[in-house]
Amino acid sequence: MVKSIIEEKREIPVAGEADVIVVGGGLAGVGAAVAAARNGMSVILIEKSFVLGGLATLGHVCVYLPLDDGLGHKIHGGLAEELLYVCCRYSYNTIPDCWKGGPSFVENPEGRYQTTFNIPACIMALDEFLEAEHVKVIFDTNFCLPIMEGNLCKGVIVENKSGRSAYLAKMVVDASGDADVLFRAGAECETQKNIVSHWTYEVDVEKIRNGNARDVLHNVQMRWFGLRPDVDNSGSKLPTFYGTTCEGVNDYIKLSRSLALDYLKKNQRDGYAMMTLPFMPQFRMTRRLKGLKEMEAVPRVHVESSVGCVIHCLESPEEVYEFPYEALIDSRIENIVAAGRIVSAGGRAWEIMRFIPSCVLTGQAAGTAAAMAIKAGCSLQKVDIAALQENLAATGVMIHMTEELRNNKRKSGKKALNIPPINTDSLSYAH
Ligand SMILES: Cc1cc2nc3c(=O)[nH]c(=O)nc-3n(C[C@H](O)[C@H](O)[C@H](O)COP(=O)(O)OP(=O)(O)OC[C@H]3O[C@@H](n4cnc5c(N)ncnc54)[C@H](O)[C@@H]3O)c2cc1C
Repeated sequence: MVKSIIEEKREIPVAGEADVIVVGGGLAGVGAAVAAARNGMSVILIEKSFVLGGLATLGHVCVYLPLDDGLGHKIHGGLAEELLYVCCRYSYNTIPDCWKGGPSFVENPEGRYQTTFNIPACIMALDEFLEAEHVKVIFDTNFCLPIMEGNLCKGVIVENKSGRSAYLAKMVVDASGDADVLFRAGAECETQKNIVSHWTYEVDVEKIRNGNARDVLHNVQMRWFGLRPDVDNSGSKLPTFYGTTCEGVNDYIKLSRSLALDYLKKNQRDGYAMMTLPFMPQFRMTRRLKGLKEMEAVPRVHVESSVGCVIHCLESPEEVYEFPYEALIDSRIENIVAAGRIVSAGGRAWEIMRFIPSCVLTGQAAGTAAAMAIKAGCSLQKVDIAALQENLAATGVMIHMTEELRNNKRKSGKKALNIPPINTDSLSYAH
């Protein structure tokens, strides 16, 4: 039997109060917070680390995957498009000229509407972005428990350097990446095991020393330890992990770091430098909501309650899917809404919903729905979906696909544009 103790009841201070509390400052949480704020809400965002961006910054995923379908049609607008520009505001971008400014169609595009970005510059741009939108960000603060009264969440209990305290809210957005809030509030969730997959960046110091110092960027390359999701890993001896237990997270971190250390031991030499390690475990899909409705990965189908179109960002040409509002909410809990890689989407649909543009779209939809529910004095289940769709569409979100996309009679560029594959020379442990 597991040894246990009884935690004493204690009085804790209320550290703050807002219309909307967002738990998690990844790009989904950023999208949700900004959407709620722009819809007139006071917003507090609680983040356990010291920076915004989540996997996109701490987890080294500095590749904002495409907003277009690979045939010249823009699919993502709204905050998903706006954040792409925020991420690269103070450094380089790799957006092809034909896409700059965000046209809805480009004949024969010379590349995909995507960018890579510089992580430190992105972190600071996100700070500035949220400050300008009047979102109060509280770093170094761990969400512990929702304060539930039946099906209603009155706020959250957190723990930080000041100790344990509470934040009260009318609506809570779960953008934790692991559905921590919804799960602890009793929502039905699904978990999944993850492969060990460790991205880092390295430089060849010699090349920089002998070349132009300004050329540092071209001499930084990515190195991948562990397994890749797009290759057959069935023969691998590396274990897989749930990212929802203390043991799973610790075992994952230790193994992924030991793979990097093995590499350093074998390759240590003058002139080689590993630049950084990810400071967030690179779990892809850990736990998700099983909501009022599940998103299905059936392309080109009209979904009446759609809050936006999504694509599988790594395929080309890409099929278009409509994402249902009810996949953001639980059937019972009235005021906790999911955002990001935890929304209700199983199997291949989960894969589609974990890409950055999809995460920001669901963040925007979640923050907007929370604001509308507060204004209407109703639960999330009773939100006026037509009004929500109108609100999102006014910001540039494509709610329903055009007939051209639905019938797959797309105007196409000369050929579908693929995303270049990652250089597999740096695949150290893909057995
Ligand atoms: C190795 C890897 C490669 C990928 N490659 C790409 C790619 O090239 N392009 C792409 O578009 N997508 C890629 N993805 C997917 C994409 O990066 C993520 O799915 C997306 O960034 C998730 O955003 P999110 O905001 O939903 O969650 P997260 O980024 O996970 O954000 C969750 C945030 O919540 C915080 N948090 C968690 N728990 C708590 C708590 N208890 N209290 C307070 N805060 C908490 C975390 O610190 C974090 O900041 C990749 C993912 C991985 C793992």
